[in-house]
Amino acid sequence: MHAMMMNRPLSVIEVLRYAAEIHGSGEIVSVRTEGDLHRQSYAKTFARTGQLAHGLDALGVGQGDRVATLAWNGYRHFELYYAISGMGAVCHTINPRLSAEQMLYIIGHAGDRILFVDVTFIPILEALADQLPKGLELVAMTDAAHMPDSKLDLICYEDLLGDHPAEYDWPDLPENTAAGLCYTSGTTGNPKGSLYSHRSTVLHALFVAVTLPRSLHEGARLLPVVPMFHVNSWGMPYAAPLVGASLIMPGAKLDGASLFDLMQSEKVTASWGVPTVWLGLRAEIEARSVPPSTLDQLVIGGSAAPRSMIAFFEDQGIDVCHAWGMTEMSPIGTTGQLSIDMQDAPFDDRMARKALQGRRMFGVDLKLVGQDSQRLPHDGVAVGELFVRGNAVISGYFNDEAATAAVMDSDGWFGTGDVASITPDGYLGIQDRSKDLIKSGGEWISSIDLENVAMSHPDVANCAVIAISHPKWDERPVLVVQGKEGAQPELESFHALMAPHFAKWQLPDDVLYVDTLPLTATGKVSKLMLRKQFADYVLPEAR
Ligand code: AMP
Repeated sequence: MHAMMMNRPLSVIEVLRYAAEIHGSGEIVSVRTEGDLHRQSYAKTFARTGQLAHGLDALGVGQGDRVATLAWNGYRHFELYYAISGMGAVCHTINPRLSAEQMLYIIGHAGDRILFVDVTFIPILEALADQLPKGLELVAMTDAAHMPDSKLDLICYEDLLGDHPAEYDWPDLPENTAAGLCYTSGTTGNPKGSLYSHRSTVLHALFVAVTLPRSLHEGARLLPVVPMFHVNSWGMPYAAPLVGASLIMPGAKLDGASLFDLMQSEKVTASWGVPTVWLGLRAEIEARSVPPSTLDQLVIGGSAAPRSMIAFFEDQGIDVCHAWGMTEMSPIGTTGQLSIDMQDAPFDDRMARKALQGRRMFGVDLKLVGQDSQRLPHDGVAVGELFVRGNAVISGYFNDEAATAAVMDSDGWFGTGDVASITPDGYLGIQDRSKDLIKSGGEWISSIDLENVAMSHPDVANCAVIAISHPKWDERPVLVVQGKEGAQPELESFHALMAPHFAKWQLPDDVLYVDTLPLTATGKVSKLMLRKQFADYVLPEAR
């Protein structure tokens, strides 16, 4: 029997319309490329979004057209998110840290018609000018006074808004209409596109808001370090206006000192980002001997947050919530706030729990699959490939059947490529990307587990564990270390730290030192580049 309820479609623009009406005093504060700090209420933002939609109409943007952005976190980028999706076009965010080759590939693959670009990134486009698709229009995200001198034919963002009216007749779109497009950073092969719908985007924002209330509530002041140019800044540009939280957009300044100052001056209550960013903030807190005074929660994801990092911030009175997810999941899948029965547990027990990747968010199902394709129990011991399904998980990649076939199973679950265990009470423990696991003598060693302990070494700024091939054991783990102030701690000092937690054969065979660890386009340590860098390295035993 069919229910008799209105079937109103979920729609991205409704989030901003709601914020403008109900949370009109919530604001977006942006560190601008113009060099100043800019403030704008959600009400003003909604009005400008209407003007922008008229401007896009004037450029001939139609429903289903892909409109790309190459920009930092800021209010203009936010306006583009809503105007493009709201009018029925698709907002395609491009990661400026991709290689030129990857960038050209995704612009072509997406079929972008217009590209909005922060002035910082114009040199990237100038270098690619001859290879950009013919007819791709470029809009510089600034005002007339700050238009750069460029050989490119650039439209000015503020001129595009001009004196168009704020009212716009937003179309009623079916909720499965595409709203956003984001390519995975593609560490191997070509980047692959996740095409989000209005429905998945709004549901993801609702799920995240319910799951992370300590970050997301009316009056909260959120600083997304996670970029809007990759997986929608973990959904924050939708979840924050929904609940009436303000957004403090850091622009290009993501070093520890700049983040600390902005957190302090803008009374930031919560901030989200990848572990590498928090290394910088940690160093700044150590240098100043105090944390930013209003900072209450850090959400850390994108790669594993080491336990020592979690414990450091918790010691400063800042709640740390680990989160796991993927571009293909919009992206949040699990979050690591403690269950009520753990809240009074001893510090070490709580930190051990927080170092796991957390429990599934509503709307996300998890299953573990073993090598024989059998489903494995959630007993905290069995380790298998993690598959997911849910309301905000992709059903396939945009225009890429081969890539789709490689990740979807016959029951319609998406294979994450992560190897994990799940405890009986639902905590996910990511062991590795399947390609980063180390196979030694037929047994697996988790690089994440070794890194986690190595990070607690006092002389380590950052580290990674990679597999090096071995004539007898196939592969052996080797630790690559970026020392604090150039320190080069001995292998034995790592073995002493690791011995209580690992079998002897699991300990790294050697330690190598680097000035800096290579990062991927999304700010994670690039093991692919490290493996290339040390391709000719020979283990001490084999020399
Ligand atoms: P991306 O699509 O760029 O967001 O990357 C997704 C991948 O990042 C996942 O499949 C994991 O391998 C990794 N990842 C994300 N969050 C975490 C986390 N909290 N701990 C460990 N790995 C993570």
